Amino acid sequence: MSRNIIIIGAGLTGAVIARQLADSGTCSITLFERRDHLAGNCFTFRDPASGTMLHKYGPHIFHTNDTEVWTYVQRFALFEPFKHRVVARYQGRDYGLPVNLDTINAFYGTQFTSDEARAFIASRCLKLARPAANAEEQALSTLGHELFNAFYKGYIAKQWSRPPSDLPASVTARLPMRFDREDCYFGHKHQGQPRFGYTALVEALLDHPAITIHTETEITRADLRDADHVFWSGPLDAYFDHAEGRLGYRTLRFEELRAPTPIQGRAVVNYSDPDVPWTRIAEHSFFTPWETPREAVAFREYADDCGPEDEPFYPIRLISEKAILARYIERAKTEKNITFAGRMGTYRYIDMDIAVREALDCAAQFLRAPDDMPVFSASPI
Ligand code: UDP
Repeated sequence: MSRNIIIIGAGLTGAVIARQLADSGTCSITLFERRDHLAGNCFTFRDPASGTMLHKYGPHIFHTNDTEVWTYVQRFALFEPFKHRVVARYQGRDYGLPVNLDTINAFYGTQFTSDEARAFIASRCLKLARPAANAEEQALSTLGHELFNAFYKGYIAKQWSRPPSDLPASVTARLPMRFDREDCYFGHKHQGQPRFGYTALVEALLDHPAITIHTETEITRADLRDADHVFWSGPLDAYFDHAEGRLGYRTLRFEELRAPTPIQGRAVVNYSDPDVPWTRIAEHSFFTPWETPREAVAFREYADDCGPEDEPFYPIRLISEKAILARYIERAKTEKNITFAGRMGTYRYIDMDIAVREALDCAAQFLRAPDDMPVFSASPI
């Protein structure tokens, strides 16, 4: 028997679920995508003028400790080794980020060893006898107030337009604090970039006779009635026509810079000073170091609250949003034959590897027990 499956959203989550169900030979999948392209926010395309692979919604880098996920994505794309390095520009000077031993010594004008730096930073840190309640406490108890003020405070004000005390601790906990000289942005075992971009990866995932794709197609709940099961990786609140209010997201705006020669000569510079209006500049040819661009293309990134017409990027998850979220969770629990999945479906700030892992697990669960599916692929709380 072939099950009739509808998937909403052609990002990594939707594509992996589609592929796994298609490969089982027991499902026929129809995938609907609102936008005119595949790959969701990791969409990449070749810029005709420069020849550079551009990341339309901001740079993506694949990094994971999950060897199964790493092996899985390599079935669908050739990955080139890539180590991401970022500097933070603060008062005209560049410092390695995440904060490491070199950052500490450059910032304080010291020559600490690892152990000395650890003891010194500990003496500057907020002492907490309980887990940090918000991003400010998390950062102050890890970095101390001087490093926090220099590298986090201004950047957070620009990226989130909210005081760090209103943000969940998980936001700043994404960045480690290092007392060695490791200067890679991510500490993961596997890191790389798909040689032909993320769109090609998603196209390869979806290249299967059991998958039919409709792009530029907006779907409502009424269109889903005939499906045996629906996987919804679009925004959770959109499924319910925002009946409980809008979940808050940050959106990004990009300002393009072009020049005949390299603009900043590296992939990403973060701007820590509050009076520089952009958060960071990404020069996209530096994400494909095996290619030579004909000209340089970079993007200044500005963050803003997401209006109804904007593309949502980051779930904010303030206390107030959690109350709205709780109401959507209650509504979702009354639905039948639907699973909300991925960053938008579960309203969580997840990286690509987590999206792939959760999609693999979600599809496996469906293939094991299709009549016993959870309403969320992972808990939104
Ligand atoms: N962050 C910061 N200063 C920086 C970089 C990051 O304060 O120069 C904070 C900021 O709140 C951000 C969080 O650390 O949201 C996590 O950073 P990450 O690089 O993971 O954010 P992303 O690149 O996913 O936007």
